[in-house]
Order: sequence, then C-alpha cells, then structure tokens
Amino acid sequence: IQSSSSSSSSSSNRIMYVIRTSSKFYTTRLKYLLQTWILLVNEHVYFITDKILPNISYNHFILTEKICGHEKHAMNTLCCKTAHDFIFFHRYLTKYDWFCHFDDDQYVNINNLEKYLSTLNFNRPYYIGRNSWSKPLNRLKQPYPYPFWFATLGAGVCLSKYLVHLLEPYTRNISKFINGCLKENYHDDIYLGFLISAYLNVTLTKNIRFHSHLEKDFYKDKQKFFKIFTEQITFGFFYPYNYPNFLPNFYQSHLDRSHIRTLHCLLYPYIFECQIKIRQ
Ligand code: UDP
Ligand code: MN
Repeated sequence: IQSSSSSSSSSSNRIMYVIRTSSKFYTTRLKYLLQTWILLVNEHVYFITDKILPNISYNHFILTEKICGHEKHAMNTLCCKTAHDFIFFHRYLTKYDWFCHFDDDQYVNINNLEKYLSTLNFNRPYYIGRNSWSKPLNRLKQPYPYPFWFATLGAGVCLSKYLVHLLEPYTRNISKFINGCLKENYHDDIYLGFLISAYLNVTLTKNIRFHSHLEKDFYKDKQKFFKIFTEQITFGFFYPYNYPNFLPNFYQSHLDRSHIRTLHCLLYPYIFECQIKIRQ
C-alpha cells in the first residue's frame, strides 16, 4: 500500500475503509483482498491487526497484541480490536465523510458502496449495515429497556462523519468501549448498535446489499446469484463452507481458493489481468 495524496474529489476519496484482521489470516484471507478490491482504494484502507503485516505501509495499521492480548475469537479480544477502529476514525475525521468497517473475509464492491453512500448526507447521523436479526434485540435491562437493531460487523458497517463525531465521548477512549462490551455482555457489533441507539437515539439504516458469510443461502441459488451479484455491496466468504464455488475459476484453485479473484474479474472484466483470464 502506498500512501500518496490525491487531489481528486470523487467520493472514493471520502470513504475510510478499516479492516479487522489477524496475522494468522494473512495468507488465507487478506492476501486475496490485497489482490482485488483493496488495490482500487488502497490509500484509504487501514488495518487493525495483532502483528505487522507484509506489504502494508506502517502508518496504515494499528497493532493490538499488547492491548488486546493473545489472538482469539472471543468477545473481549474482538471488542478490543473493534475499539481500535475508532482510533483511525477519530484521527481522520476531517479527511473522510464515511467510515466503514470490514472483516478480512469480505469482498467490497467499492463502486456500489460509493454510489450508495453518495445518495446520503454525511452531515446527518447514519449507522448503515445489514441487520443481524430479523427482529430488533428486545432488551429488557435497565437503564435502557428498549428494543434496538444492530448490524452484523462481518457484513460491513458504515458510519457517517456526523455519527462518528457524536460517538466520540463513548469511543475516544478505547478501554471505555471495551469495558462497555463487557459490562453489557454484548459482542462488539451488538454493543455498537446499543451505543448508537441508546445513547444517541439513532436507528440502523438497513441495507440488505451487505452480506456476511453467516448468510447460509446467499450462494445456494446460482441463477439468482448471477441476477443480483453486480448490485451487491459486500460479499462474505467462508472457505470451504460458504463461497461461490459455482463460479468458473479463472485462476488455478490454489491461487484463488474462495473465488474472490474470479468474482473481482467478473465485476471488472476490463482490468488487464482479467481480460487475459477471461479469454483463456
Ligand atoms: N479475528 C481476529 N482475531 C482472531 C479471530 C478473528 O482478529 O483471533 C477477526 C477476523 O480476522 C475477522 C473477524 O475477527 O475479521 C471475525 O472472525 P472470523 O471471520 O474468523 O469469525 P466469524 O465471527 O466471522 O465467524
Ligand atoms: Mn468471518
């Protein structure tokens, strides 16, 4: 990733992409993102990771191992990593209009994301993503015993500049966010939804064009997938259980395990490398 300054004012320069990843997933996950969608927006992509990663410039990642402890898929570790998103969000609040979190097992169609966000006013408080559950979480606990919606972090979540500003008192200090997760006993995405809804009275703007690999049916119906895939904003990948294995693989399978690179070529057939692959 090269950080160069660009004077263009297209909205692609107004979206900050923060990716939560782990050194243990570099070759199985992140590598594929670095070969595809990240290439298109690389100077705006930042990483939350335990250890230094190859091919990423030093001012584009925050290391979490010292603060978050040994890497594991646990509520406090992941909440700790997500709390670090806000270090970047607040640091670059004046530079960007939209602040998006993605996991390292997601493909982002940056053009569709840009188009969608450009229809919304970032000076209003927007919390955008795919609702995790089909009903709001029915919270009975005091002091906020009201139902609220939350978005799956693993499908991608975007916050407007104004919402990040409003969240500052709750997110400026990362230990406050981590303790909040623990106190409420919520995973990071539920806690974020709770904060936004209980403290700021802002509700989720649902967008079902965001997808995580938790969606069991997304890659089940090939015909339907081909009808809608160009419209989607994010795709979740979970090899070998949930990925578009019906796509014609443009690469040798060890070079494109989850078919992310193939998907990228189907979306951008005019990229030079893809032209060659499609012709073969
Ligand atoms: N993750 C991490 N450290 C870990 C395990 C997971 O940072 O020890 C990150 C991972 O890179 C991903 C997110 O947390 O961005 C969710 O993890 P994963 O996709 O493995 O699990 P899921 O919750 O989606 O089933
Ligand atoms: Mn995942």
